[in-house]
Amino acid sequence: MKFVDEYRDSATAKKLLKAIDKVTTQPWNIMEVCGGQTHSIIKHGIDQLIPSAINLIHGPGCPVCVTPLQAIDKALEIAKQANIIFCSFGDMLRVPGSEQDLLALKAQGADIRVVYSPLDALKLAQQNTDKQVVFFAVGFETTAPTVALAVYQAKRQQINNFSALVSHVRVPPVMQQLLSSKDNKVQGFLGAGHVCTIMGYHEYLPIAAQYHIPIVITGFEPVDILQGLYLCIKQLEQGKSEVENQYSRVVNQQGNQPAQQLLKQVFKVVDQNWRGLGEIPQSGLALSDEYAQWNAEQRFLVATIKTQEPKNCRSGEVLQGLLKPEGCAEFAKSCTPEHPLGATMVSSEGACAAYYHYRSHHV
Ligand code: SF4
Repeated sequence: MKFVDEYRDSATAKKLLKAIDKVTTQPWNIMEVCGGQTHSIIKHGIDQLIPSAINLIHGPGCPVCVTPLQAIDKALEIAKQANIIFCSFGDMLRVPGSEQDLLALKAQGADIRVVYSPLDALKLAQQNTDKQVVFFAVGFETTAPTVALAVYQAKRQQINNFSALVSHVRVPPVMQQLLSSKDNKVQGFLGAGHVCTIMGYHEYLPIAAQYHIPIVITGFEPVDILQGLYLCIKQLEQGKSEVENQYSRVVNQQGNQPAQQLLKQVFKVVDQNWRGLGEIPQSGLALSDEYAQWNAEQRFLVATIKTQEPKNCRSGEVLQGLLKPEGCAEFAKSCTPEHPLGATMVSSEGACAAYYHYRSHHV
């Protein structure tokens, strides 16, 4: 398949590995921002094939993993009310809330449905006018435009039994937060290719300049990642700090401008709580005042729910690249994909789940 097969080609991968080996003269810490990249790195053993001087740090770019516990508790609170059809992407159903998850609530009889798009939830609202249909809107700038479109359509068509429980997050502020931390070890980034498909990469230019750090926008296939690493290491070795685009078959500097305009119209930028990372200024999206009528938090009076995260889960450190999953005492013992303690074990993009599935730590 064009644009896929050549990015899985072993001969090209071997050439890139040789090039990485040749260009590396000293240790470097590089963070892959996106959970999809983490999954690919661990699945293909890329971290074990590159020189041991290169330390890959798994970043916070898994949307399921960073959705705060209180958002799950709000979802549970809404979904258990009468006359509700609660819609969500499948991964969110197994993320543990304070007391249970959405799947357990569904087993108890709540009408919770997996949908593939917020527009499916909007259609359900049109088909079930005697019910309230709520969509659980999580994820990065990649998924936010489809939610914006659903809410925009709901307003235009006055579909008033539809609403969205929004917990969207933005990538650039979390990168800045990580770089500002006194514990920061990251010296180079592989930028999240999918997010840049929508947002372009113009937002990264000031970050690279301010923190003197190379950022290489990178895809998700093994050859993409090796190429991204090669470009990033080359810059580090040459003392450069530029934004480069490895994923040019999909991404350009300006991104998808109609999608960005829709985001601006429907959402406002807000401070946002990230699971394990706490509140990060300007890192979230909430429905703007013009669309407040479609805000499920307000409609179902759950905005004030606050929750503490479980103490024995160290996913916050995993998400900041301060701890590898195997360093957590619960890993593959009390915490497994069947019984996850934290969100990084639930999603296939979560670092803990990737290590569990692709490394031989379990029988
Ligand atoms: S292994 Fe489980 S408990 Fe430990 S950090 Fe990962 S999700 Fe949390």
